[in-house]
Amino acid sequence: MSAKLIDGKAAALALRERIAGEVARFQSATGRAPGLAVVLVGEHPPSAAYVRSKVKATIDAGMESFEERLPASITQDELVAVIDRLNADPAVDGILVQLPLPEQVDERVIITRISPDKDVDGFHPVNAGRLAIGLHGFVPCTPLGCLMLLQQELGDMSGLDAIVVGRSNIVGKPMAQLLLRANCTVTMAHSRTRDLAGAVRGADVVVAAVGRPELIRGEWLKPGATVIDVGQERVEQPDGTRKLLGDVAFDEAVEVAGAITPVPGGVGPMTIACLIRNTFVSAARREHFDYARDL
Ligand code: NAP
Repeated sequence: MSAKLIDGKAAALALRERIAGEVARFQSATGRAPGLAVVLVGEHPPSAAYVRSKVKATIDAGMESFEERLPASITQDELVAVIDRLNADPAVDGILVQLPLPEQVDERVIITRISPDKDVDGFHPVNAGRLAIGLHGFVPCTPLGCLMLLQQELGDMSGLDAIVVGRSNIVGKPMAQLLLRANCTVTMAHSRTRDLAGAVRGADVVVAAVGRPELIRGEWLKPGATVIDVGQERVEQPDGTRKLLGDVAFDEAVEVAGAITPVPGGVGPMTIACLIRNTFVSAARREHFDYARDL
Protein backbone atom coordinates (compact mmCIF):
# COMPACT_ATOMS: atom_id res chain seq x y z
CA MET A 1 0.00 0.00 0.00
CA SER A 2 1.22 3.49 -0.76
CA ALA A 3 -0.26 6.50 0.97
CA LYS A 4 -1.78 9.42 -0.87
CA LEU A 5 0.54 12.45 -0.81
CA ILE A 6 -1.05 15.56 0.65
CA ASP A 7 0.16 18.33 -1.63
CA GLY A 8 0.71 21.35 0.62
CA LYS A 9 2.25 23.33 -2.22
CA ALA A 10 -0.88 23.06 -4.35
CA ALA A 11 -3.19 23.77 -1.38
CA ALA A 12 -1.12 26.83 -0.44
CA LEU A 13 -1.14 28.15 -3.99
CA ALA A 14 -4.93 27.75 -4.20
CA LEU A 15 -5.37 29.56 -0.86
CA ARG A 16 -3.04 32.38 -1.90
CA GLU A 17 -4.95 32.83 -5.18
CA ARG A 18 -8.28 33.03 -3.34
CA ILE A 19 -6.84 35.59 -0.94
CA ALA A 20 -5.47 37.66 -3.83
CA GLY A 21 -9.03 37.77 -5.23
CA GLU A 22 -10.40 38.90 -1.86
CA VAL A 23 -7.60 41.50 -1.54
CA ALA A 24 -8.62 43.00 -4.91
CA ARG A 25 -12.27 43.26 -3.74
CA PHE A 26 -11.07 44.76 -0.43
CA GLN A 27 -8.95 47.34 -2.21
CA SER A 28 -11.71 48.52 -4.50
CA ALA A 29 -14.10 48.79 -1.52
CA THR A 30 -11.75 50.55 0.91
CA GLY A 31 -9.22 52.30 -1.35
CA ARG A 32 -6.24 50.66 0.32
CA ALA A 33 -4.41 47.34 0.38
CA PRO A 34 -4.00 45.25 3.56
CA GLY A 35 -0.53 45.81 5.06
CA LEU A 36 1.88 43.45 6.81
CA ALA A 37 4.87 44.79 8.77
CA VAL A 38 7.74 42.33 9.18
CA VAL A 39 10.36 43.09 11.81
CA LEU A 40 13.79 41.51 11.35
CA VAL A 41 16.43 42.10 14.02
CA GLY A 42 20.04 41.29 13.06
CA GLU A 43 21.43 39.24 10.20
CA HIS A 44 20.55 35.63 11.20
CA PRO A 45 20.61 34.04 7.66
CA PRO A 46 17.66 31.58 8.07
CA SER A 47 15.53 34.42 9.54
CA ALA A 48 16.46 36.69 6.63
CA ALA A 49 15.43 33.93 4.18
CA TYR A 50 12.07 33.43 5.96
CA VAL A 51 11.45 37.17 5.88
CA ARG A 52 12.23 37.33 2.14
CA SER A 53 9.67 34.64 1.35
CA LYS A 54 7.04 36.28 3.60
CA VAL A 55 7.60 39.66 1.92
CA LYS A 56 7.33 38.08 -1.54
CA ALA A 57 4.09 36.27 -0.64
CA THR A 58 2.65 39.50 0.76
CA ILE A 59 3.40 41.43 -2.44
CA ASP A 60 2.21 38.55 -4.67
CA ALA A 61 -1.17 38.68 -2.89
CA GLY A 62 -1.49 42.39 -3.76
CA MET A 63 -0.85 43.49 -0.18
CA GLU A 64 1.52 46.13 1.10
CA SER A 65 4.73 45.03 2.80
CA PHE A 66 6.50 47.16 5.40
CA GLU A 67 9.95 45.94 6.35
CA GLU A 68 11.74 46.99 9.53
CA ARG A 69 15.35 45.81 9.39
CA LEU A 70 16.97 46.59 12.71
CA PRO A 71 20.49 46.12 14.05
CA ALA A 72 21.31 43.15 16.31
CA SER A 73 22.47 45.69 18.91
CA ILE A 74 18.96 47.17 19.35
CA THR A 75 17.81 47.59 22.95
CA GLN A 76 14.53 46.19 24.22
CA ASP A 77 13.14 49.71 24.74
CA GLU A 78 14.02 50.67 21.17
CA LEU A 79 12.26 47.58 19.82
CA VAL A 80 9.22 48.27 22.01
CA ALA A 81 9.09 51.76 20.48
CA VAL A 82 9.08 50.25 16.95
CA ILE A 83 6.19 47.93 17.93
CA ASP A 84 4.25 50.86 19.44
CA ARG A 85 4.69 52.84 16.21
CA LEU A 86 3.44 49.89 14.10
CA ASN A 87 0.51 49.30 16.50
CA ALA A 88 -0.55 52.93 15.94
CA ASP A 89 -0.07 52.93 12.14
CA PRO A 90 -3.47 52.59 10.40
CA ALA A 91 -1.82 51.20 7.21
CA VAL A 92 -0.46 48.21 9.17
CA ASP A 93 -2.97 45.37 9.70
CA GLY A 94 -0.51 42.70 10.76
CA ILE A 95 2.78 42.74 12.66
CA LEU A 96 5.22 39.86 12.57
CA VAL A 97 8.41 39.85 14.58
CA GLN A 98 10.78 37.24 13.18
CA LEU A 99 12.17 35.04 15.98
CA PRO A 100 14.67 34.44 17.48
CA LEU A 101 15.55 37.85 18.94
CA PRO A 102 18.98 38.78 20.33
CA GLU A 103 19.53 37.83 23.95
CA GLN A 104 19.28 41.38 25.34
CA VAL A 105 15.64 41.43 24.22
CA ASP A 106 12.99 39.41 26.08
CA GLU A 107 10.83 37.75 23.41
CA ARG A 108 7.82 37.64 25.74
CA VAL A 109 7.93 41.40 26.27
CA ILE A 110 7.94 42.02 22.52
CA ILE A 111 5.22 39.48 21.68
CA THR A 112 2.90 40.81 24.37
CA ARG A 113 3.52 44.39 23.19
CA ILE A 114 2.02 43.67 19.75
CA SER A 115 -1.65 44.63 19.64
CA PRO A 116 -3.59 41.33 19.85
CA ASP A 117 -5.70 42.60 16.93
CA LYS A 118 -2.58 42.91 14.71
CA ASP A 119 -0.93 39.73 16.02
CA VAL A 120 -1.17 37.73 12.78
CA ASP A 121 1.30 35.14 14.10
CA GLY A 122 -1.20 34.36 16.89
CA PHE A 123 1.52 34.20 19.57
CA HIS A 124 0.06 36.83 21.94
CA PRO A 125 -1.38 35.32 25.16
CA VAL A 126 -4.73 36.99 24.37
CA ASN A 127 -4.94 35.08 21.09
CA ALA A 128 -3.83 31.84 22.78
CA GLY A 129 -6.64 32.40 25.29
CA ARG A 130 -9.18 33.21 22.59
CA LEU A 131 -8.31 29.94 20.82
CA ALA A 132 -8.61 27.98 24.08
CA ILE A 133 -12.11 29.26 24.86
CA GLY A 134 -13.43 29.39 21.30
CA LEU A 135 -13.41 33.12 20.56
CA HIS A 136 -12.39 34.73 17.27
CA GLY A 137 -8.72 35.68 17.28
CA PHE A 138 -5.61 34.79 15.35
CA VAL A 139 -4.47 31.18 15.24
CA PRO A 140 -0.73 30.52 14.71
CA CYS A 141 -0.06 29.96 11.02
CA THR A 142 1.56 26.51 11.08
CA PRO A 143 -1.18 24.67 13.02
CA LEU A 144 -3.85 26.56 11.07
CA GLY A 145 -2.26 25.32 7.83
CA CYS A 146 -2.15 21.75 9.22
CA LEU A 147 -5.84 21.93 10.10
CA MET A 148 -6.71 23.14 6.59
CA LEU A 149 -4.80 20.21 5.05
CA LEU A 150 -6.57 17.76 7.38
CA GLN A 151 -9.99 19.22 6.62
CA GLN A 152 -9.30 19.07 2.90
CA GLU A 153 -8.27 15.43 3.26
CA LEU A 154 -10.79 14.15 5.80
CA GLY A 155 -13.72 16.58 5.83
CA ASP A 156 -15.59 16.13 9.12
CA MET A 157 -13.14 14.84 11.75
CA SER A 158 -15.70 14.37 14.55
CA GLY A 159 -14.87 11.47 16.80
CA LEU A 160 -11.48 10.67 15.25
CA ASP A 161 -8.58 9.86 17.57
CA ALA A 162 -5.79 12.39 17.01
CA ILE A 163 -2.33 12.64 18.50
CA VAL A 164 -0.11 15.70 18.48
CA VAL A 165 3.54 14.90 19.17
CA GLY A 166 5.22 18.05 20.55
CA ARG A 167 3.73 20.67 22.86
CA SER A 168 5.35 23.96 21.82
CA ASN A 169 3.33 27.15 22.17
CA ILE A 170 3.61 27.89 18.46
CA VAL A 171 2.72 24.48 17.00
CA GLY A 172 1.78 21.60 19.33
CA LYS A 173 -0.52 23.32 21.82
CA PRO A 174 -2.55 25.36 19.31
CA MET A 175 -2.74 22.29 17.04
CA ALA A 176 -4.30 20.28 19.87
CA GLN A 177 -6.82 23.09 20.49
CA LEU A 178 -7.79 23.14 16.82
CA LEU A 179 -8.26 19.36 16.71
CA LEU A 180 -10.37 19.52 19.85
CA ARG A 181 -12.47 22.26 18.23
CA ALA A 182 -12.86 19.91 15.24
CA ASN A 183 -14.31 17.32 17.69
CA CYS A 184 -11.36 14.92 17.68
CA THR A 185 -10.35 13.03 20.79
CA VAL A 186 -6.91 14.47 21.32
CA THR A 187 -3.78 13.04 22.89
CA MET A 188 -0.76 15.30 23.41
CA ALA A 189 2.62 13.60 23.52
CA HIS A 190 5.99 15.09 24.45
CA SER A 191 9.48 14.14 25.57
CA ARG A 192 8.20 12.56 28.81
CA THR A 193 5.55 10.39 27.16
CA ARG A 194 6.25 6.82 28.29
CA ASP A 195 5.07 4.81 25.29
CA LEU A 196 5.11 7.08 22.27
CA ALA A 197 4.87 4.22 19.76
CA GLY A 198 1.79 2.85 21.57
CA ALA A 199 0.16 6.28 21.72
CA VAL A 200 0.76 6.91 18.00
CA ARG A 201 -0.58 3.46 17.12
CA GLY A 202 -4.03 4.35 18.42
CA ALA A 203 -4.42 7.48 16.30
CA ASP A 204 -6.39 8.07 13.11
CA VAL A 205 -4.66 11.46 12.77
CA VAL A 206 -0.99 12.04 13.63
CA VAL A 207 0.54 15.51 13.73
CA ALA A 208 4.29 15.46 14.40
CA ALA A 209 5.91 18.70 15.55
CA VAL A 210 9.03 17.60 17.36
CA GLY A 211 12.19 18.58 15.48
CA ARG A 212 13.74 15.08 15.80
CA PRO A 213 14.32 13.76 12.27
CA GLU A 214 12.47 10.51 11.52
CA LEU A 215 11.56 9.91 15.18
CA ILE A 216 8.17 8.44 14.22
CA ARG A 217 8.54 5.10 12.50
CA GLY A 218 6.23 3.54 9.93
CA GLU A 219 5.52 0.53 12.15
CA TRP A 220 4.14 2.82 14.87
CA LEU A 221 1.30 4.01 12.63
CA LYS A 222 -2.23 2.68 12.51
CA PRO A 223 -2.81 1.45 8.93
CA GLY A 224 -4.66 4.14 6.97
CA ALA A 225 -3.80 6.98 9.39
CA THR A 226 -3.53 10.53 8.11
CA VAL A 227 -0.08 11.95 8.92
CA ILE A 228 0.92 15.60 9.01
CA ASP A 229 4.66 16.11 9.39
CA VAL A 230 5.56 19.58 10.67
CA GLY A 231 9.21 18.80 11.37
CA GLN A 232 11.86 20.22 9.11
CA GLU A 233 15.48 19.77 10.04
CA ARG A 234 18.49 19.93 7.74
CA VAL A 235 20.54 16.78 8.28
CA GLU A 236 23.98 16.12 6.83
CA GLN A 237 24.06 13.02 4.61
CA PRO A 238 27.03 10.60 4.27
CA ASP A 239 27.96 12.31 0.96
CA GLY A 240 28.24 15.67 2.72
CA THR A 241 25.03 17.14 1.26
CA ARG A 242 22.30 18.38 3.58
CA LYS A 243 18.77 16.99 3.30
CA LEU A 244 15.58 18.41 4.79
CA LEU A 245 13.97 15.70 6.95
CA GLY A 246 10.67 15.57 8.77
CA ASP A 247 9.80 14.00 12.13
CA VAL A 248 8.30 10.98 10.39
CA ALA A 249 10.37 8.28 8.63
CA PHE A 250 8.69 9.00 5.31
CA ASP A 251 9.79 5.93 3.30
CA GLU A 252 8.37 3.63 5.99
CA ALA A 253 5.28 5.68 6.77
CA VAL A 254 4.18 5.96 3.16
CA GLU A 255 3.68 2.16 3.16
CA VAL A 256 1.29 2.25 6.15
CA ALA A 257 -0.47 5.62 6.24
CA GLY A 258 -3.59 6.47 4.25
CA ALA A 259 -2.32 9.98 3.47
CA ILE A 260 0.83 11.87 4.41
CA THR A 261 2.46 15.26 3.87
CA PRO A 262 5.92 15.21 2.26
CA VAL A 263 8.86 17.24 3.58
CA PRO A 264 9.43 19.61 1.86
CA GLY A 265 6.21 20.53 0.05
CA GLY A 266 3.73 19.73 2.82
CA VAL A 267 3.19 21.96 5.83
CA GLY A 268 5.86 24.59 5.00
CA PRO A 269 4.05 26.31 2.11
CA MET A 270 0.78 26.38 4.10
CA THR A 271 2.44 28.33 6.92
CA ILE A 272 3.16 31.31 4.67
CA ALA A 273 -0.24 31.09 2.97
CA CYS A 274 -1.89 31.24 6.42
CA LEU A 275 0.16 34.31 7.35
CA ILE A 276 -1.21 36.03 4.24
CA ARG A 277 -4.69 34.78 5.18
CA ASN A 278 -4.43 36.12 8.74
CA THR A 279 -3.21 39.51 7.49
CA PHE A 280 -6.11 39.79 5.07
CA VAL A 281 -8.59 38.75 7.78
CA SER A 282 -7.12 41.38 10.13
CA ALA A 283 -7.59 44.10 7.51
CA ALA A 284 -11.13 42.90 6.78
CA ARG A 285 -12.07 42.94 10.48
CA ARG A 286 -10.57 46.39 10.99
CA GLU A 287 -12.47 47.83 8.01
CA HIS A 288 -15.70 45.84 8.68
CA PHE A 289 -15.30 44.32 5.21
CA ASP A 290 -17.49 41.30 4.49
CA TYR A 291 -15.11 38.54 3.31
CA ALA A 292 -15.44 34.89 2.30
CA ARG A 293 -15.76 33.20 5.73
CA ASP A 294 -14.39 29.89 4.51
CA LEU A 295 -10.93 31.35 3.89
P1 NAP B 1 10.07 22.90 19.98
O1 NAP B 1 9.61 24.19 20.53
O2 NAP B 1 11.50 22.53 20.09
O3 NAP B 1 9.18 21.74 20.64
C1 NAP B 1 9.48 20.41 20.39
C2 NAP B 1 8.52 19.53 21.13
O4 NAP B 1 8.84 18.18 20.85
C3 NAP B 1 8.56 19.70 22.65
O5 NAP B 1 7.26 19.78 23.17
C4 NAP B 1 9.29 18.44 23.12
O6 NAP B 1 8.82 17.96 24.37
C5 NAP B 1 8.88 17.45 22.07
N1 NAP B 1 9.87 16.37 21.98
C6 NAP B 1 11.22 16.47 21.90
N2 NAP B 1 11.78 15.26 21.83
C7 NAP B 1 10.78 14.35 21.87
C8 NAP B 1 10.71 12.95 21.85
N3 NAP B 1 11.82 12.19 21.77
N4 NAP B 1 9.50 12.37 21.92
C9 NAP B 1 8.38 13.10 22.00
N5 NAP B 1 8.37 14.45 22.01
C10 NAP B 1 9.56 15.07 21.96
O7 NAP B 1 9.73 22.79 18.42
P2 NAP B 1 8.64 23.54 17.48
O8 NAP B 1 8.98 24.96 17.38
O9 NAP B 1 7.26 23.12 17.84
O10 NAP B 1 9.04 22.85 16.08
C11 NAP B 1 8.99 21.46 15.88
C12 NAP B 1 9.45 21.14 14.48
O11 NAP B 1 8.58 21.75 13.54
C13 NAP B 1 10.86 21.64 14.12
O12 NAP B 1 11.47 20.72 13.23
C14 NAP B 1 10.59 22.94 13.39
O13 NAP B 1 11.63 23.28 12.47
C15 NAP B 1 9.33 22.58 12.65
N6 NAP B 1 8.48 23.74 12.29
C16 NAP B 1 8.07 23.81 11.00
C17 NAP B 1 7.27 24.85 10.61
C18 NAP B 1 6.81 24.90 9.19
O14 NAP B 1 6.35 25.91 8.72
N7 NAP B 1 6.88 23.80 8.46
C19 NAP B 1 6.87 25.83 11.52
C20 NAP B 1 7.28 25.71 12.86
C21 NAP B 1 8.09 24.64 13.24
P3 NAP B 1 9.04 18.75 25.79
O15 NAP B 1 8.02 19.86 25.77
O16 NAP B 1 8.76 17.70 26.79
O17 NAP B 1 10.45 19.24 25.76
